Amino acid sequence: MQKNMSLSALLQILFLCPFSTLTAAFNNEDPTLRTMEDFSGYPIHESHSFISNTLSSPLYADAQNLQNQIDELSRLSDTPAPSVTRVLYTEKDVLARRYIKNLMGLSGLSVREDAVGNIFGRWEGDEPELAAVATGSHTDAIPYSGKYDGVVGVLGAIEAINVLKRSGFKPKRSLEVILFTSEEPTRFGISCLGSRLLAGSEALAKALKTTFDGQNISFFDAARSAGYANDQDDLSSVFLKKGTYSAFVELHIEQGPILEDEGISIGIVTAIAAPASIKVEFEGNGGHAGAVLMPNRNDAGLAGAELALAVERHVLESGSIDSVGTVGILELHPGAINSIPSRSHLEIDTRDINEERRNIIIEKIHQSASAIAKKRQVKLTEFKIINQDPPALSEKSIIKAMEEASKELNLSHKFMISRAYHDSLFMASISDGYDLHSMLQRLQPQTRRIFIHGCHV
Ligand SMILES: [Zn+2]
Repeated sequence: MQKNMSLSALLQILFLCPFSTLTAAFNNEDPTLRTMEDFSGYPIHESHSFISNTLSSPLYADAQNLQNQIDELSRLSDTPAPSVTRVLYTEKDVLARRYIKNLMGLSGLSVREDAVGNIFGRWEGDEPELAAVATGSHTDAIPYSGKYDGVVGVLGAIEAINVLKRSGFKPKRSLEVILFTSEEPTRFGISCLGSRLLAGSEALAKALKTTFDGQNISFFDAARSAGYANDQDDLSSVFLKKGTYSAFVELHIEQGPILEDEGISIGIVTAIAAPASIKVEFEGNGGHAGAVLMPNRNDAGLAGAELALAVERHVLESGSIDSVGTVGILELHPGAINSIPSRSHLEIDTRDINEERRNIIIEKIHQSASAIAKKRQVKLTEFKIINQDPPALSEKSIIKAMEEASKELNLSHKFMISRAYHDSLFMASISDGYDLHSMLQRLQPQTRRIFIHGCHV
């Protein structure tokens, strides 16, 4: 990921669109809020408003309007407010896309969509042959999510473009706002579907030909119902070349409680810890809980339990605070109190910012699974690595520029590692390098002040 003047301007303004600490005002009795809390694992704080001043100069982000847009978009949902549920290629997803395309058009951007529905709003620069600077995020939402997830990075980006246009700024490089298709894995089990394809994943393009959702609707039928993938099943047209973008930044709410707990405004992401997911199954003979004596059992449930503990042990053995591992699913069959489990099914998630260290953990988990199966005389019928993405490091000069922007805008900041999936993980592989920080240094002081201070909300 990298930089230039267009990015520096964009960055400064994006920082002024964030949706700072939200004030608590929620009703614990509301079943929708309780469900949202169950999904997120954190108390849900419904925002009053983060806005104090409205548009008073062409150099100010129109925060009130931005909040209104966020609220409007949140109403395109399949669950009641304040929750948002917007699943890929459903009616609400299509309406949200139309809403965003309309805003892009109103901002004077030229809009393009690819075969899976990644949406690009482009502001042509004075030197359009140069690689563009891009920013964006997603608008699909897992069941019972909040209204800011992803949306902030799309609507905030469009407002940043509006501010730049109002300020009279003329970009040298083209600027693009991107809405990524299916960042969430809700419908087809694949996260960052759109950005993975942009990064040229042939394996995914092939796998999608045989991918179905829980209702047995194929990916391509679903895409066509939303107006995409019309002519053929070949998705290679979606792939972008390495170097298509000179830099990519994504504004996103934090998905944990750290910034809010510490009262800090900006989290500067230095790396994205890429997840790997593994499915494991053990099979034993089962039997009646009373009839089969202990020496004669091969209990698949205990094999699963032992592997869950092994996952924790291997992660802790890495000695790094950045290594994490979770057994989020552990199912036993047949699942009766008087029945010895004949089958156990585990789904394991492990993440790290160091790919080698994470892969060693995966290997150790595999070895433990085989050893446990042998010891307990059960069959290891499945050990499948579902995905094993490489982590991404943020470009140093972008980190530095974000730090400077935070300081100059008097916004408290903290360096952080992102432990959730983001489209940036894949955009990093097709974004080149350009030194934004030194470009910022070369700007005239007067110009810098406009870029850095001119858009304070
Ligand atoms: Zn998100």
